Amino acid sequence: MTGFFETSVEFLKGVGPQRAALLNKQLNIVTFADLLQHYPYRYEDRSKFYNIKDIDESYQYVQVKGIIKRKELNGAGFKKRLVAYMNDGTGEIELVWFQGINWVNEKIKSGIEYVAFGKPNRFGSKFSIAHPELDPVMNDAPPKFFLQPVYSLTEKLRTGSFDNKALSRVMRTLVDLSISKVRETLPVGLMNSMHLISKKEALVNIHFPQSNEWLEKAKHRLKFEELFYIQLRLLKMKFVRQTVSPGMVLHNVSLLTTFYNEHLPFPLTDAQKKVIREIYTDLKSGKQMNRLLQGDVGSGKTIVGFICMLIAIGSDTQCALMAPTEILAQQHFINLQRYAQRMNITIALLTGSTKKSERTIIHDTLKTGVLKILIGTHALLEEEVQFNNLGLSVIDEQHRFGVAQRSRLWQKNKSIPPHVLVMTATPIPRTLAMTLYGDLDVSVIDQLPAGRKPIKTVHQFDSHRLQVFEFLRTQIALGRQVYVVYPLIEESEKLDLKHLMDGYESVSRAFPEMPISILHGKMKSDAKDYEMARFKKGETKIMVATTVIEVGVDVPNASVMVIENAERFGLSQLHQLRGRVGRGADQSYCILMTDYKLGADSKTRINTMVRTNNGFEIAEADLTLRGPGDLMGTQQSGVLDLMIADLGQDGELLKTARSKATELIESDPDLLSPENSVIRVQVESMKKSVVNWSKIS
Ligand code: ADP
Ligand code: MG
Repeated sequence: MTGFFETSVEFLKGVGPQRAALLNKQLNIVTFADLLQHYPYRYEDRSKFYNIKDIDESYQYVQVKGIIKRKELNGAGFKKRLVAYMNDGTGEIELVWFQGINWVNEKIKSGIEYVAFGKPNRFGSKFSIAHPELDPVMNDAPPKFFLQPVYSLTEKLRTGSFDNKALSRVMRTLVDLSISKVRETLPVGLMNSMHLISKKEALVNIHFPQSNEWLEKAKHRLKFEELFYIQLRLLKMKFVRQTVSPGMVLHNVSLLTTFYNEHLPFPLTDAQKKVIREIYTDLKSGKQMNRLLQGDVGSGKTIVGFICMLIAIGSDTQCALMAPTEILAQQHFINLQRYAQRMNITIALLTGSTKKSERTIIHDTLKTGVLKILIGTHALLEEEVQFNNLGLSVIDEQHRFGVAQRSRLWQKNKSIPPHVLVMTATPIPRTLAMTLYGDLDVSVIDQLPAGRKPIKTVHQFDSHRLQVFEFLRTQIALGRQVYVVYPLIEESEKLDLKHLMDGYESVSRAFPEMPISILHGKMKSDAKDYEMARFKKGETKIMVATTVIEVGVDVPNASVMVIENAERFGLSQLHQLRGRVGRGADQSYCILMTDYKLGADSKTRINTMVRTNNGFEIAEADLTLRGPGDLMGTQQSGVLDLMIADLGQDGELLKTARSKATELIESDPDLLSPENSVIRVQVESMKKSVVNWSKIS
């Protein structure tokens, strides 16, 4: 049976070797199964007829029914065209042909009723459709399929004579051929309880819906199936880890107690304590921990990470902390070194710019077990970095690392995998977390340290820059420091650098007496360090920077964040940037500067920022605005290449799919019951064919 779906599309009637090569190259479609899963991205509704008088520019396509009153041949040579005037009793529309004029002219007759379909264009007060699809109205037999599929195609395919019509025809052939071969992939009980249509019905109706209702049913069924199998896979991984793979038992809290009693710099929040307890429970359980620690910017994740390291080190193992950027790794190092020194714990920093001599020492002491904490960038993943006994890996800002990198850090221990704590400052919407980190346990720090005042966020137009500068002056006079951030987008790096420099100049002009720092990605790393250090020490009052300061940078005395061209930033990025202030006890401010002209989405983003400080709320808004594919760092994760479901919209269905998958794993983890054999078969076949499936593991 499966053989059929693995047949090359080349052998499908209407395809052949040339078109097959095109499909393969342009859409990555090789087999029958691939083609069947190339679902339409929208449908043209052929059940609806518009009144000609109601047409306006907002319609992508319209279908009208009317009598061709007369025809005209206009223009000459290049400009020659055929115009037919169609009237439906409510108004008149022009149907225009520039090509195949003679043929069309012969075919269409005046005085007869036709159905025309196409994209309306406005000319003055009139509308026209160029090269419409035109069919005479046939007695009263309704067309077989009202909703016609529209497939995503590339320009090469379209010009390579494989347009939507051709693809639809081929798809029709394939769907007809497949019907007798399609295997059901969900158990009957599950389908009944969820009111799902069969796989067969779903495949037919997703391509050629009998009605809107059937289309919805087909989408629902296929989305559920897709989400269900992803969740099943993730939950299965978690289940296996929890039941089968052993974890080091780390239970010695003597170091932790010393730290608590003698060196704790501030009382921990209840949320921090709760999370530490959750982690401690994992560490001593004998099962490997894989935990995601979510906490808004400034919630104090770093010290939680450090305290957990104390448990690991107290239990005679080593720890790693991986950060996504060099600046962040350095900052973690500086912060944790303070604590570590008081505790007599060896600690080192390893990044791309660590000198060779230092590197050698690090490698050696790591191997012998003398070095207890290694902090670094992805340089930690290199082959030469070998631990004596790695007990705990902490990964900061995980969303910037791919799933593959995460698992490489798991593999750093020869015998037993280390415990893994993933910390993320970008709150991830629940739906996304369930898919991106569905195999992890989740802890949340939902509380900021005491005494923090919520950041005040305002929106200012560029024209009010002088007032803004005036405000900065008063804040600096109060002893505070200020960030001024410019966008940096890769495609226009040169231009952005120029903006940054212009901005630096204008700030310098406005504050001639003030020491100012500048920071951007093109600077050498020691120059960056130097500027960062000056700002941190308070020697400079204003930091003009690109988004390099975005992640985790911590200067508690900085209390104003000015974001230039705020409309060019995404929501989560704005939120991250804002999180750079509000870290001390002073009232902090975030000022979003924009031009007068703002698009609708930009307005929503700015308003959301002004309205709320809650990272989870912002993340949800971001997901709805942009969809998951665009969220920071999620593209390369592989898990999100969904065929049909949409995490931005299908959150409820995802939750259901996850709970159904949970029920299944709990009741029949090895899929042994006869009822679940369809699932077992499907899982096996997915392991072989679905790219995502293997990527996750
Ligand atoms: P994030 O969760 O964004 O990584 P950090 O760990 O950088 O936050 O902490 C932000 C700041 O808050 C740091 O200066 C840290 O020392 C401080 N901090 C953390 N926990 C507490 C606490 N319980 N009380 C007071 N300050 C704290
Ligand atoms: Mg942090």
